[in-house]
Amino acid sequence: MQYLELRAPDDMHLHLRQGEALIHYARDAARSFARGLVMPNTIPPLTSPDAVRECGSRIRRAAPGFTPLLTFKILPNMDPGLVHSLKEAGAVAGKLYPEGVTTNAEDGVRDVEALFPVFEAMAGEDLVLCVHAEIPGAPVFEREVAFHETFLRIHRAFPSLRLVFEHISDARTLALIRDLPADRVAGTITLHHLLFTLEDLMGGALNPHLFCKPVVKTADDRKALREAVFSGDPHFFFGSDSAPHPRAHKEQKGAAGCYTAPYALEALASLFEAHGVLGALEGFVSERGARFYGLPRNEGRLVLRREEWTVPEEYHDVVPACAGMRLTWRVVEKEG
Ligand SMILES: [Zn+2]
Repeated sequence: MQYLELRAPDDMHLHLRQGEALIHYARDAARSFARGLVMPNTIPPLTSPDAVRECGSRIRRAAPGFTPLLTFKILPNMDPGLVHSLKEAGAVAGKLYPEGVTTNAEDGVRDVEALFPVFEAMAGEDLVLCVHAEIPGAPVFEREVAFHETFLRIHRAFPSLRLVFEHISDARTLALIRDLPADRVAGTITLHHLLFTLEDLMGGALNPHLFCKPVVKTADDRKALREAVFSGDPHFFFGSDSAPHPRAHKEQKGAAGCYTAPYALEALASLFEAHGVLGALEGFVSERGARFYGLPRNEGRLVLRREEWTVPEEYHDVVPACAGMRLTWRVVEKEG
């Protein structure tokens, strides 16, 4: 097989930043993806209908042919009355960050129950609630699991609200999500959590470009994530959480985030093929996310060619997580 043709894929968790850099990052994502769910933790954050609208037009101008799926950031004092106009501005989801949990989350939420009126309004508008599910004060390797109880509390209080447990890193979270109804509760899984473990991050010299929140975990966690994805379980779909930081921010300040958008699809195709499950790729990247979000599947196609190539050491001053990795598939054409 020399060519691989897929329904054009979606990245259901993506950071494109703002300013001049956004142009590069949006184009990098647009090489492979037809749509991307764009996270709202910019500075300032996307919290108003105007900000959401403007973000959408900036991305469309930067990367014609790429459709941003827009989100808003849920702040502790958010007015539930705003939810309707955020939806009208084009938002398909709201994102909840616990206080201090990751990049630009200093303004995040401490008291989740105080936001129940917002969640109720979101359920009424049929919007999706995306959650960065970690408790910041808990021990690093327990942070995700420490959030399970809060996650379940939200689900039980609003059983009709669609909830996404973002960037699952821990096998115990897969078990939690699997038991919940797949049309209401889902989880995104990133490329870097499918590829790397703590050994890659810090088993030898520390590699800051593999440092993200939640941190990559053990080989057992990675194995469970791969099995969840390879098996076609309807709860799980692709969200890269691709989060570019300039090289100096990673190497001097230890910023959290892995840059994967430019080559994620090719790396996934290489990984799926290496495990003999290339046929499971399309469901993961092109179907289940759209279905959960209630979006039509993309009509266009993505064509990859069998070709050995090496992920570059840098894209516009950002070091990719997979720098130097040999991949076996290359995107040659995206249509629609
Ligand atoms: Zn993220």
